[in-house]
Formats: sequence, C-alpha cells, structure tokens
Amino acid sequence: MIAILPVGDIPFLEDIRTDVEETFCTQARIERVFLDLSQAYDPYRQQVHAGTVLRMMDSIPLPGAIRAILITDVDLYERGLNFVFGEAKINGRDAVVSIYRLRHPDPLVFRERILKEVNHELGHTFGLGHCPEPSCVMSFSNSVADVDRKSRHFCPDCRRALNEELILLGIEPCHR
Ligand SMILES: [Zn+2]
Ligand SMILES: [Zn+2]
Repeated sequence: MIAILPVGDIPFLEDIRTDVEETFCTQARIERVFLDLSQAYDPYRQQVHAGTVLRMMDSIPLPGAIRAILITDVDLYERGLNFVFGEAKINGRDAVVSIYRLRHPDPLVFRERILKEVNHELGHTFGLGHCPEPSCVMSFSNSVADVDRKSRHFCPDCRRALNEELILLGIEPCHR
C-alpha cells in the first residue's frame, strides 16, 4: 500500500490515488494526518524546508505503507535552490510534493502536473535517479515548462528498474 497524505487544500485526490495505483501496481490510500508544517517554515524565505518535512514524516506511523507521499499546498525549498517541486528519500519510505508552483488556469494541466511530480518523487523512493530521456517522468524539472514537457510515464529503462524494485517488495509489476 502507498499512503497519500494531503496536508492543506489539495485537489484531484481521487485522481492522484487512482494514478498512483495504476503506475506503481499497488493499492493506494488517502490518509489524513496532522503535521504542523510551521515547524519547517522559514519566515525570511516565506517557504517551507522540504528536508525538514521529510524528517517530520519519520514520526508518522503508517502501518502497511511501503511508501508515503505527502502533498502540500505550501511552497517548498531546499538549501541552495530557489524552490523545489518536491523531495524524496532515495530508497526510503517518504516523499513530499508541493502543488504551489504547479497551478494553472486549466484544471487538466494543473492535475497533470501534480500527477507527474507525484510519480517523479515516488520514483525516487523506489531508487530511481534523474533520467536523461526528456519525456521520462524521471527527467529533472527546473521549471513548470520542464514539467509540461515530460510525460507522467516512466521510459523503458526506468520502468525496468522500477519493476525490479517492485518485485523485491513482493509486488507483481503490472507494466512491461
Ligand atoms: Zn527528482
Ligand atoms: Zn527514464
């Protein structure tokens, strides 16, 4: 089971849940948790530190969850970067995604951007790094233009690596 943890006002949750299930071949569940992100807030930057959010997630027990993705509506940053769309523990349980910079007047574009970044950060938790294939969801995004350019799917190489990880976790891959 993959836990989806909305913190704040997060749209398209059911679409996100369905896409995560479809993409990672395992059940996904929306879990309401309480996490006070103000502890990770930098008043000078007026942003929330992504690494601190990941650390705070350590204290959330999620029985049965092999992975967890927290989705927030606040702006995230990491040291040395103006902002980040998300951050993940490589090969760890937890990832975080912000919808703050993904907004678009067209809800379909907004939703697609969220699905891509969720798949991207979850991909990191399954050990995947950044991919040189521009259409692959694991390609690095510096801007929303980069997010729009890539697809929400894994290229064949990344899919193969993901499938190997799924098998190690006892999950039957549902994509070739
Ligand atoms: Zn990444
Ligand atoms: Zn790839």
